[in-house]
Amino acid sequence: MTHELFLLAKYGFALMAHYSGADSLYRWLCGPSLAVLMYHRLRDEYDPAPLSTSPSTFARHVQWLRGKRWLVSLEDGRVHLSTHRRGPRYAITLDDGYKDNLNILAMSPPPPATLYVVTSLIGGTLLWYYRLAHAIQNAGNPVIDLAFLGMDRVDVTNAATHPQLLQRLADRIKSLPPREVESAVDRIFEMAAPTEPLPGAGEMLGWDGISELQTHGIEIGAHTHTHPLLSQTDDAHAREEITVSTSVLRQGLGRRPRHFAYPNGRAQDFGQREVELLRAAGYVTAVTTVERLNRANTDPYRIGRINAFDARFRAPGGGLSKALFFSETSGLLGWLRQWRQ
Ligand SMILES: [Zn+2]
Repeated sequence: MTHELFLLAKYGFALMAHYSGADSLYRWLCGPSLAVLMYHRLRDEYDPAPLSTSPSTFARHVQWLRGKRWLVSLEDGRVHLSTHRRGPRYAITLDDGYKDNLNILAMSPPPPATLYVVTSLIGGTLLWYYRLAHAIQNAGNPVIDLAFLGMDRVDVTNAATHPQLLQRLADRIKSLPPREVESAVDRIFEMAAPTEPLPGAGEMLGWDGISELQTHGIEIGAHTHTHPLLSQTDDAHAREEITVSTSVLRQGLGRRPRHFAYPNGRAQDFGQREVELLRAAGYVTAVTTVERLNRANTDPYRIGRINAFDARFRAPGGGLSKALFFSETSGLLGWLRQWRQ
């Protein structure tokens, strides 16, 4: 089945499921659930990675959930799972601490949300991924030699190949020892010699922005100090990432953070060691990037999330689809994906 045909079939199925009531019946039969939506950047600009959602799309998601009275804070979502009341709840999470997250304050009142901050980036420069993307997309040199990463020389003049190249490069860089990541990205940046300057320090939230969000009810959580893949750090480094980010937030905000997000967040990016460290540091939840709905038996330190990037819930024609949004996040479309794989 071609990709286009699959998208059409999925959309048709979503429409049927949503408007026939099958989706609601499915939710009711499955008991309480908590869908944790994962956002990164709230902006209109093109993003080569599925990490941006336009503020207007975000506002629609919030509006749909408010219409159903299903939108809660992460804490209230956990309470919901522990009761025996049927039906779904949704929580909103935002990762890394981008300044564009302040767009959430344009909504009145702002929705409940949890923001996970990388403490070394507060008021600083972008995470390495966006520096890498900037270098490739604005490369002044036509060819980059990736031999130092065990890869080939690559031609970066064709923009159509950039998303795939970025994916390959990001995967390779993530496999490096955490302390070598920054220098590898610096090296690629130098080789690419981008013709445009890197967007400056204004891209990440500073303390004023973080405090403003907290004042408006946004819960501030931790996302380590430097965003390494924790499973690839040694014991001392893993402990340091958690304790430093905890104390930086505690000092900056006057309260101890209670919620944590694992960098990269796939099942292989963290383990029992991290769970124990978080528990000892007073955290009550930790979210992953593993795509799944949370149920009563979900481990609070292994909460699944659903990536709500902009294109995710769009119909084949390009418009935002409420039917896709609800049936993609009810679990009902999961079987279709599994069947296709
Ligand atoms: Zn992150």
